[in-house]
Amino acid sequence: MAPTTPKTPKKTSPAKRVLSTTASSPASPISRVRKAQRDAPDLGREMVFVLLGSGPKDLRETKVFHRNLLMSVSGFFATGLTSSFKEAETGVFEMEEEDPSIFTIFEQWVYKDRLFIRKTASSSSSFSDVEDDDQEWECLPRLYTLGKRLDAPRFKDAVISAIIEKVGESKVMPDTWASYVYQNTVSACALRRLIVDFHVFAHQGRLLKRGACPDAEEPEFEFLQDALARMADVGQQVFAAAVGEMPWADACAYHEHGEGACHLADDDDAVSSTCLPRTPKTPLRRSTRISSTFGLYDTT
Ligand SMILES: [Zn+2]
Repeated sequence: MAPTTPKTPKKTSPAKRVLSTTASSPASPISRVRKAQRDAPDLGREMVFVLLGSGPKDLRETKVFHRNLLMSVSGFFATGLTSSFKEAETGVFEMEEEDPSIFTIFEQWVYKDRLFIRKTASSSSSFSDVEDDDQEWECLPRLYTLGKRLDAPRFKDAVISAIIEKVGESKVMPDTWASYVYQNTVSACALRRLIVDFHVFAHQGRLLKRGACPDAEEPEFEFLQDALARMADVGQQVFAAAVGEMPWADACAYHEHGEGACHLADDDDAVSSTCLPRTPKTPLRRSTRISSTFGLYDTT
């Protein structure tokens, strides 16, 4: 059967538009699906190839991105593609040091604006659940440092929100990230501030003594300096803050958009909720659980 020729819809008359707007405006939901045409991405037709890992080029895992899109989210790629380096001409980046499994999460975020890291809990094996959970914890700081290397502020903001979401959901906070984060970042950054605040506000500094947690075993000097400076800054406020008043109750305090609108806030509720103050339903638990690479403490 031949397809029906689509008919041009009739233009809505001004009278109908007025009626429609008046009738629905009091209870109109915020538009989530329709976006302004001026905000539409200009994807273009040029593509960029990112080769991951080492070995023969044709065997390396390769990610393909729209050039314009990639430049819009990453200062690293934007600079590389507009410089005098060969990458600007070839559109090919060889990134031997990057872990394909971590980079894949960045790739998915570029196109879907979400971090696909949460595994569905297995109904049959609790051991498997713990392993899956550990994998997610281990992935989060690696994603953040990837975001630093790629100079991708929106991606880093998403990772910060994911960490805060995970902490709120699990009532567990990482306590062995200090060495990794301080060794893989070169200056003050949101994740440094966040892990310092975990120690200062959730633990009131009690875990920063030998034997109390892995972060205190081989502490980075800068981390200890930052923690001490933060404790001096906030003083008695540490002891007065209720669980729902922890600094990370507002994820935007760690985002890089400054006073500008939060790009995570106009999406769906799952992400935007991490940018709003909230009160966990149960008090933080306190006890220590160690994962294979990055330790976690389970705040029983
Ligand atoms: Zn924000």
